[in-house]
Amino acid sequence: MSIIDPARLLAVWETGARRHPIDRALLLFALARPEAPPDALADEPLGMRNAAIMRLRQQCFGDALPAWLDCPECGERMEFELDPAMLPPAPTTRPAPFDVAGLRFRVPSSRDLLGTLHTSDPEQAAIALLRACLDPDGGAEGEATELAALIDPVGDAMDAIDPWADLSLTMPCPACGTGVTASLDVAAYFWDELDRHAGRLLDDIHRLASAYGWSEAAILDLSHTRRAAYLARINP
Ligand SMILES: [Zn+2]
Repeated sequence: MSIIDPARLLAVWETGARRHPIDRALLLFALARPEAPPDALADEPLGMRNAAIMRLRQQCFGDALPAWLDCPECGERMEFELDPAMLPPAPTTRPAPFDVAGLRFRVPSSRDLLGTLHTSDPEQAAIALLRACLDPDGGAEGEATELAALIDPVGDAMDAIDPWADLSLTMPCPACGTGVTASLDVAAYFWDELDRHAGRLLDDIHRLASAYGWSEAAILDLSHTRRAAYLARINP
């Protein structure tokens, strides 16, 4: 975890704890791409966002992703380590626009998703997302009835063109053989790991502050090795 400075980690954790998951994913994206203007990151395709978060996650915690799935048929819990090699190749460039039924679309961004949050009806939200991704120069204006009929084909095209936007994996259940499909939310997965890591860091700060009276900033300035050495002296 030395890749992220402990004080920066706690600041991100504190900010993200109160945010919507999409904003939280953007926070992690900014952590992965510190050189980019944060506002511009909201317009990047979801697949590029997720791939950047996954790369940072691998640098922090390694390649293997421990995971589990419950089989919906027999209830068997499948625990496994997900190998990134099982995932599609990570995108490196913005996917090109694509045409469906004479209309031109692009793949969605975090900002497009944020724009649908006020819509509670799933179909209306899907239509709003399609409208946001519709190229104004690539065909008609996108009437609601026309877009409603295109939700499935455009969604399929988006999945094919930008598979990292919504990663899913299918594992055969060892007990009954059913293929169980689940989606892998990279940002939520990494956030859970950071949340646990921040919790352990706060525990360490609490113990050192209680024992020595040092400030949080002074404790965070200590190297991991030196912090661990003092902790060992408090809890032999
Ligand atoms: Zn099963």
